[in-house]
Amino acid sequence: MKILVTGGSGLVGKHLKDIIPDAIYISSKDFDLTNIEKVHEMMDFFRPKLVIHLAARVGGIMDNINYPVDYLEENILINTNVLKICHEFDVNRVIAILSTCIYPDKVDNYPMTEKDLFNGPPPPTNFSYAMSKRCTAVHIDSYVKQYGKKWCYLIPCNLYGEYDKYEEHHSHFVSALIKKIYEANGEIELWGTGKPLRQFMYGGDLVRVIKYMIDNDIVDNFNVAPKDVYSIDEITKISKKACGKDKLVVNYDNTKPDGQYRKDIDSSKLLSVLENFKFTSLEEGIEKVYDNFSKRYNK
Ligand code: NAP
Repeated sequence: MKILVTGGSGLVGKHLKDIIPDAIYISSKDFDLTNIEKVHEMMDFFRPKLVIHLAARVGGIMDNINYPVDYLEENILINTNVLKICHEFDVNRVIAILSTCIYPDKVDNYPMTEKDLFNGPPPPTNFSYAMSKRCTAVHIDSYVKQYGKKWCYLIPCNLYGEYDKYEEHHSHFVSALIKKIYEANGEIELWGTGKPLRQFMYGGDLVRVIKYMIDNDIVDNFNVAPKDVYSIDEITKISKKACGKDKLVVNYDNTKPDGQYRKDIDSSKLLSVLENFKFTSLEEGIEKVYDNFSKRYNK
């Protein structure tokens, strides 16, 4: 089956390439997906049977706060163009990736299940990004209802991995933390209070889920996250240990925003269909990424 992956040059795309090497991996340099003519050209040229849609404008909390228009417009255009043209070219299967950032800012009961997605407004700090991705959920559900498509989406928690970007405005918390720990001279400073609760998943785990769904022809929408929920401070302690820097002093700058207090999700729906799936522990994943980061950094 011919598989095309949008966002092929990103963190998830590169992990996917490690386990599905013969798919077609597209970056923004190949085709700008905000331009519908380019998306048409891409689909006409490759004629895939399955599209794994990863491409998005993704960024940290300050970038989301400073550029809400860009997050909204770029993501709505990318997602709408990709789905519309997939329909035009009769792509049999689409698996799109959303994010736990799109869940409500607060719900009554945690962890959140797939049913909570529209039970309240998303966090104000990434409202535009969240609304663009909520539209994708509605868009896919609508194609399923109206045209009976075998299309679906996954909602993963925050990710980290060897292939994350390490520029300040772009990187995600764990990857940025690993870099800070690596470069530290006795102490580091982190934003916020250290109290928010988070789930973090190794990027390699998400792509194993995607591959399992393809191999076993599973078509449904699922949360994807390990069960463990840690505070930012606990994650920092685990990271210091995994990086062999137990004695590092951590100072929290609580004049900076914390972001959402918690957004943990329940993956039991997914785990009921995946047989014998084991998530990588945070310790193990961070050790792996730190080792890779220090080798690359030394070069
Ligand atoms: P990433 O590393 O930032 O990569 C983004 C990808 O999208 C890159 O391949 C980029 O191409 C491509 N892209 C951006 N704008 C584009 C455009 N206009 N046209 C074509 N391609 C474009 O992202 P990621 O972390 O792999 O995330 C993949 C998916 O998972 C996203 O949908 C994201 O929302 C979701 N997700 C990520 C996380 C996380 O913590 N990383 C958590 C939950 C969900 P270039 O390299 O050419 O710029």
